[in-house]
Amino acid sequence: MTQLKPGVVHGAAYKQLVAACKAGGYALPAVNIVGTNSLNAVLEAAAKNKSDVVIQLSNGGAEFYAGKGFPDSFDAKVLGAVSAAQHVHLLAEHYGVCVVLHTDHANKKLVPWVEALIDHGAHYFKEHGKPLFSSHMIDLSEEDIEYNLSESARILKRLAPLGMSIEIELGVTGGEEDGVGSDEIDNDKLYTQPEDCLKAWDMLSPIGHFSLAASFGNVHGVYKPGNVQLRPEILKNSQALVQKTHGTAANPLDLVFHGGSGSEKEKIEESLTYGVFKMNIDTDTQFAFAHDVGKFVFENDKAFKHQIDPDTGAPYKKLYDPRKWLRLGEEGMVTRLDEAFADLKSAGKSLACGSCEGKKVSCG
Ligand SMILES: [Zn+2]
Repeated sequence: MTQLKPGVVHGAAYKQLVAACKAGGYALPAVNIVGTNSLNAVLEAAAKNKSDVVIQLSNGGAEFYAGKGFPDSFDAKVLGAVSAAQHVHLLAEHYGVCVVLHTDHANKKLVPWVEALIDHGAHYFKEHGKPLFSSHMIDLSEEDIEYNLSESARILKRLAPLGMSIEIELGVTGGEEDGVGSDEIDNDKLYTQPEDCLKAWDMLSPIGHFSLAASFGNVHGVYKPGNVQLRPEILKNSQALVQKTHGTAANPLDLVFHGGSGSEKEKIEESLTYGVFKMNIDTDTQFAFAHDVGKFVFENDKAFKHQIDPDTGAPYKKLYDPRKWLRLGEEGMVTRLDEAFADLKSAGKSLACGSCEGKKVSCG
């Protein structure tokens, strides 16, 4: 397996990364970030675990990145994502790992957000010879499948010439993610039909690279055990149908596991054998960040009410300095990601070439 230059991957390098995951029976965590603290924590965790990683933004995460006070909400969603991507382009190679830059769920009303990001991607491509993002997700799973696939095909036609990929969704991931999706969904929609996966393959693979979020009972968020019935065999059956119909090698589809937070470890492990190369994680890393900040605030509550201890006169500056408690949030996130890299078996498997790190040579 050829090694890759550390930093943001796209095009052939991205496809090589996906192929390596599937051949090696491992997947990359795809972590939603909302600012430089969570973003840098993901880079730190990936470097620490010598794993490649997916960094992604939801529309709400992108808006938050630009600032909640930004005058226009749509512009904030676009420019926040662009700003985060530029941050990753600048820093990722110095962390010495390969990073896939991606945006999360965009339903019908968020398609203009993705189209605006593709415009920025095309502009970036002209200046730098590479796209801004590795891939974007279009989630039209609430629409009928014909519209879902024809609209995804239209967008993939814009992405492919820029060396970019698309992620689509068939069937519905339960729960809600940043205002996209719903808690009230027919049970049968939570399970993708293999025939629909075949339709997606037929329509999209001639145009460019696509990945597929197939639903197998997965749900966004973390719920009480027993509420979620994961059926990874749906992924297996979808792979088998495409393989049989087109005479491809095993596991032709590049599958994505949404709602990875709180999932049973053995189901995660099983899904890896069916061509899952990416597992989204958001809720668990949010909690990890909040948990460690919360613990510190609870244990040092006086430092968050007074600049100087009212009884002893001791200054609290070292405790309320945001670098103190934001760093604890980052460390909490890194620790949770250690677990994700282990669950997904990607630790130690980075394709980033160590010897060309920081030098102006390309090894991929
Ligand atoms: Zn999702």
